[in-house]
Amino acid sequence: MEKPKTDKQKPVYGMASNCAFMISRAWRGAKSVLLICAGLILCAVAASLLELFVTPMILDAVGRGVSPGELTVLIAQFALGLVCVYSLQTYLKANTLFGRVYVRLKLSIEQNLLECRTAYPHIEDPDYLQRAAKAERVLTDNNQAGEAAWDTMTDLASNLVSFTIYLLLLSQAGPAISLLTAALAAAGYFAGERIRSWRYRHREEEGKIHHSLNYILRRSQDTKLAKDVRIFGLGPWLVQLYDKHAQLFYDFCVKGRRRYLWADLLDVALALLRNGAAYGWLIALALRGELSPAQFVLYFSAVGGFAQWVTGIFQNLGTLRRQSLELSTLREFLDSPEPFRFDDGAPLAVKPGHLYAIELRDVSYRYPGAEADTLSHVNLAIRPGEKLAVVGKNGAGKTTLIKLLCGLLDPTEGVVLLDGEDIRQYDRRDYYKLFSAVFQQFAFLPGTVAENVAQGEDVDLERMWDCLERAGVADQVRALPQGENTHLGRQLYLDGVELSGGQMQKLMLARALYKNGPVVVLDEPTAALDPIAESQLYQKYHDLTRDATSVYISHRLASTRFCDRVLLIENGGIAEEGTHDSLLELGGRYAYLFDIQRKYYAEGAMENE
Ligand code: ADP
Repeated sequence: MEKPKTDKQKPVYGMASNCAFMISRAWRGAKSVLLICAGLILCAVAASLLELFVTPMILDAVGRGVSPGELTVLIAQFALGLVCVYSLQTYLKANTLFGRVYVRLKLSIEQNLLECRTAYPHIEDPDYLQRAAKAERVLTDNNQAGEAAWDTMTDLASNLVSFTIYLLLLSQAGPAISLLTAALAAAGYFAGERIRSWRYRHREEEGKIHHSLNYILRRSQDTKLAKDVRIFGLGPWLVQLYDKHAQLFYDFCVKGRRRYLWADLLDVALALLRNGAAYGWLIALALRGELSPAQFVLYFSAVGGFAQWVTGIFQNLGTLRRQSLELSTLREFLDSPEPFRFDDGAPLAVKPGHLYAIELRDVSYRYPGAEADTLSHVNLAIRPGEKLAVVGKNGAGKTTLIKLLCGLLDPTEGVVLLDGEDIRQYDRRDYYKLFSAVFQQFAFLPGTVAENVAQGEDVDLERMWDCLERAGVADQVRALPQGENTHLGRQLYLDGVELSGGQMQKLMLARALYKNGPVVVLDEPTAALDPIAESQLYQKYHDLTRDATSVYISHRLASTRFCDRVLLIENGGIAEEGTHDSLLELGGRYAYLFDIQRKYYAEGAMENE
């Protein structure tokens, strides 16, 4: 296994700043979180003081020879005090979760929205995705820093207040005792912590093992793989893989446990030394008659408590430091600069009836980390209303070209122009409003057919049915159990339907038509269609893209006949361009590829096209 890297990068936000961040989030979202924390601090301090003073006070009362009645009242007062404090503490603890979960979920929603709305290049940037995954982990459950930090901050404050009170108390018995106890408790904490932090220091290694285990588990449960797992007998192989990684995790845990044993032994030795010295000192004072029995008992208990507060403070600080690192990871992610302009860009309103011209001027694009440009110095001017087809082999760069046109990516060199203006100046979300697109990997949400076509709950039914008709899927939608109100997918709705790839593709075409953007982009829109549906789509292509500039990507060269211009993309650039017929006449690469394809399609199918 690869040697784990240690996290050397300095966090942008320090501990105080992260505590202030959490407090301000609670102040804005759920003030009850702060009230409950304050209440818990008060309860913890009150309980420790009551417990500390109960025995010395009783001893003192007995020493003063008070009546049994007075003694009973005194004991009852302490008992009542403790009952009240513990009841309040239990009540508060039972109510901690609600506000804290709310604050965490608010942050989680903020992060999810950011990921949904961030500039598209981030989605293809492994570094960004890794940072997103790390930030997500900070908020996944009650035990992660996004929520657990409240417990640490509350404990730290309780420990600090109690520490101060005990310090004042013990300094009356002699400053040396408090100093010695504090120093030995601190030494014990740091020595133990160094050993105990082994797991934290190796968290990357642990994270990798967890990641592998989760990955294998997820893949084993992935229903998309179910067919392959059965046909290729992949089950035993997956189990073997899981076993191998589970063994790695077991070995890792054993290594950690061995170290913890040493830390525990060290704790015991130092506690013996610390308490031995302090108790010895107190006994000496008592023997010299400098302490009353009540004082002796008070200081005796205070020594134990004092060490507990010191250790507690260091422990809380250690935990808070780790949680603060994680909170900083989250905040740094939330602060990620955007490569595109959104709200700070110039507004761009879609002009009704206007046909747009789009130009790629000397455009190159290289994917992050790639060694060569996918597209290099491409010049392409799409005229207003033009029907452009883009063809080329798999991996030639057709989709990349579309992503550049749609403003999902910005060129690494060169510029994309809309009616002669650099698109980078615009609010990119306004620019996206121009496009009605059907991508190869389409996304539908688990809503109804109507909501998916209309991209929301506000549906213009007449327009929706018109688009379903034009996309050739209206009859299929009518046949669904609840027509256009049928839910898509079964993940959220038990009564949902799973449509075939072809039906989904047509539905996505209807969605694009419903949006009615002035630029239509179709990326392999027939990939999942049967030959009849494919042929129907070609026949009505002009109707589908009426009043629009359109770009059509296909690997079926013959399907480009109905376009005004065909581009053949090869070797990172436009290898050939012209109409289908002129390119055949040219007798170059397009004609050659067309000829090869022709051999693989039946003559009848070609006629259809
Ligand atoms: P086409 O649509 O013509 O099949 P693409 O535009 O999808 O081709 O891909 C062109 C090239 O860019 C391919 O070599 C592909 O491996 C590479 N590529 C595509 N997407 C990414 C990405 N997100 N990161 C790195 N390389 C990519």
